[in-house]
Amino acid sequence: MTAHDPGAGRPDPVRVADLAGRLEQVRTRLDAACARAARDPAEVDLLVVTKFFPAADVLALYDLGCRAFGESREPEAGTKADQVRAVVDDPIAFHMIGQIQRRKARSVGRWADVVHSLDSARLADALDVAVRTALDSGERSDLLDVLVQVNLDGAPDRGGVMPTDLDALAAAVRSKRALRLRGLMVIAPQSSTPAMWMERAAAIRSGFLDHHPDADEFSAGMSGDLDEAVRHGSTCVRVGTAIMGARPLVSP
Ligand SMILES: *Cc1c(COP(=O)(O)O)cnc(C)c1O
Repeated sequence: MTAHDPGAGRPDPVRVADLAGRLEQVRTRLDAACARAARDPAEVDLLVVTKFFPAADVLALYDLGCRAFGESREPEAGTKADQVRAVVDDPIAFHMIGQIQRRKARSVGRWADVVHSLDSARLADALDVAVRTALDSGERSDLLDVLVQVNLDGAPDRGGVMPTDLDALAAAVRSKRALRLRGLMVIAPQSSTPAMWMERAAAIRSGFLDHHPDADEFSAGMSGDLDEAVRHGSTCVRVGTAIMGARPLVSP
């Protein structure tokens, strides 16, 4: 047990060394991708995806300098955010990157700093109400930053709005008092051609920016395709496996 142990447990030194090594590799890879794309590394945030891994891993990564984490499942995410925030003084951002059932919106509105996976006007409604409730009760102090997820290939299980419906959904988000439209998110379909999907995503984004120049965040790229994503303008890569290792089958 160490000073900041809430009962969440601390990872053993082997695990910490493991995380430190892979984090360093990913940072090096990200820097190289930025260099190849002639981009400033400061333009691309590294979001460490900690879904399925315990709060102890988040604390280890915090000690290694990480301040933003991606989660995708309730109630795992909310519980973990509470555990971590109970023992960490610095601001630490938790991003919701997974599909959100509307009945989970109340909880997400309490702990999430950013939602990457907004894909319907009904969900925008639910999150707006949830965030206002959380603001009123003092459970949060700021509005919710929102990225609209765009579906690149039409597969319904991936989530995301079809590109043709993007403008209407962006307008819906803008009409909500508690939500701030910040940009777009994409998940490239598993394939051997990430460049093609990222090119398509960048084209959709370019049209979107014509109408929403201030919503210029672009969450794109994961362990397998972050290099291509950086080349096509990503401002936030969401990296799980390459830092955490293979995900366990059962969440904490
Ligand atoms: C799990 C997840 C990631 C991380 O994927 P890796 O391939 O493990 O890096 C990124 N984005 C979303 C939306 C996810 O659900």
